[in-house]
Amino acid sequence: MIIRKEYKFYAAHRNETLQDKCSNIHGHRYGLRIHFEVEREGDISTLFGDFDDKIEPYLKSNFDHGMLINCNDPLYQTLLDHTKRTGEHFRLKVFDGPTSVENLAWIMFSEITEMGFRLDRLEVQETDTSTLIYTREDWVRDNRHFAKSSGETSNDEKETSETPSNKTV
Ligand SMILES: [Zn+2]
Repeated sequence: MIIRKEYKFYAAHRNETLQDKCSNIHGHRYGLRIHFEVEREGDISTLFGDFDDKIEPYLKSNFDHGMLINCNDPLYQTLLDHTKRTGEHFRLKVFDGPTSVENLAWIMFSEITEMGFRLDRLEVQETDTSTLIYTREDWVRDNRHFAKSSGETSNDEKETSETPSNKTV
């Protein structure tokens, strides 16, 4: 069975690879619908609060009021220089590629899985009218894709991947 929980966070980002308004620094109120696969044990499966106890601090310390940034974006170096010069720290969620909603979904699906949950799907709402629905199959396919692009040997049965390298600065 599935338990669906909803969360939200606010974050800035840009997509430096696009030649349109998305290359400007801007923000979103990201809405999340996380579909957890659970199994009944007696009368219940998982206490709803057990999800919040892990997911809320994860969102707060990694994403909320932070900035999603591609480590290859020249702006990243500028922000690191700023930190070095002023001692002021920003919450940065560093991606290995563009901070698209697709890449965000892959990172979040991987990290929430590492926290010990089994996800069926993750819905990431980026704007009032646009939501990405990211399924377990999408995640398995992306893991193969990212394993290949980083030169690792991929295994078709493999469902888990290396931790996406994203460090909080
Ligand atoms: Zn955007």
